Amino acid sequence: NSESQTVRIRPLDKSVVNKIAAGEIIIAPANAIKELLENSIDAGSTTIDITIKDGGLKQITITDNGSGINKDDLPILCERFTTSKLSKFEDLQSIATYGFRGEALASISQISHLTVITKTKNEPTAWKAQFTDGMLNKNGAKPVAGKNGTSLIIEDLFYNVKSRLRALRGGNEEYLKIVDVVNRYSVHSKNVGFTIKKTGSNSNDLIIRPNLNTKDRIKVIYGSSVANDLIDLSLQANLDVGLFKCEGMITNSNYYNNKKRIQPIFFINNRLVACDPLKRAINQVYSSYLPKGHTPFIYLALELDPVNVDVNVHPTKREVRFLHEDEVIDYIVRELEAKLSSLDSSRKFTTQQ
Ligand code: ADP
Ligand code: MG
Repeated sequence: NSESQTVRIRPLDKSVVNKIAAGEIIIAPANAIKELLENSIDAGSTTIDITIKDGGLKQITITDNGSGINKDDLPILCERFTTSKLSKFEDLQSIATYGFRGEALASISQISHLTVITKTKNEPTAWKAQFTDGMLNKNGAKPVAGKNGTSLIIEDLFYNVKSRLRALRGGNEEYLKIVDVVNRYSVHSKNVGFTIKKTGSNSNDLIIRPNLNTKDRIKVIYGSSVANDLIDLSLQANLDVGLFKCEGMITNSNYYNNKKRIQPIFFINNRLVACDPLKRAINQVYSSYLPKGHTPFIYLALELDPVNVDVNVHPTKREVRFLHEDEVIDYIVRELEAKLSSLDSSRKFTTQQ
């Protein structure tokens, strides 16, 4: 009977804990790509080149020309909570870089075979290090030829998390999700160039040169039908949340397309996020300008005082909450409405002439 069976509480094995944590941060290859892009951008890179095999499940290679990683830091690179970006809890409030928890590489190394080749400008050679379960392999880092910057090679992602593998939809779909993330960072990351291709292919699926401006980035990625109808939306105000800035581009009422809906690109303090309340509010404004069911192309980068932004609400950092969300959204909506109605009346005026 049930009384004779005593249920005991036991600690989980450390490797199990680490794999559970890893699976919450990296749920698909595209999540890994987001973390890797953020790291490369944080490292001051101006070129980032990505190669993908089987939707990232067989292999992801990302090469940047950033600061590189100190050879002496390689042994702890993939331990949880090791980071060069945060030292006190309070630092979370003023963190300017994308990464902040030192969990991404730890997670990736728990659920894949990870190789890092890196060179700082002070080192005569590059160093190659391989990791298993978050630990640098016994034989340590080896000197190899290489340029300044960092290459990461991630092989067999989720090889030891079979349930995760089963939940994914296969290479093509995962590749499209990866390209989507790279596209979004490409729009936002001024002065950074990007390429992406599939392993074995001779041609890149995306080439963004570092010096391309935002409009041309949008044109390369989303086509001239979007780029030709863009309006600038640069705002700055002193709201209750403190100084608020918004920069971005949004299509005018000439652009409509319900066939190929492009999800809004929102960055808050340089982090790619989803912000459904803002998306709904903007689409509502456009509902009186566009035919039913059509939505604009939206790229907005908001900057808020970091004190008002809670970056730590979701493991994948996809959702960001900020204080006075309503006030900020109302402000954007008012400015957008003013802009659209003035464009609209000037167009009516020119057509009447
Ligand atoms: P976080 O970004 O939160 O610090 P990560 O696990 O993503 O944690 O990275 C751990 C550390 O490894 C970073 O703080 C950084 O010092 C270093 N790092 C990771 N990727 C790169 C890169 N591409 N170039 C230079 N340094 C890197
Ligand atoms: Mg990071």
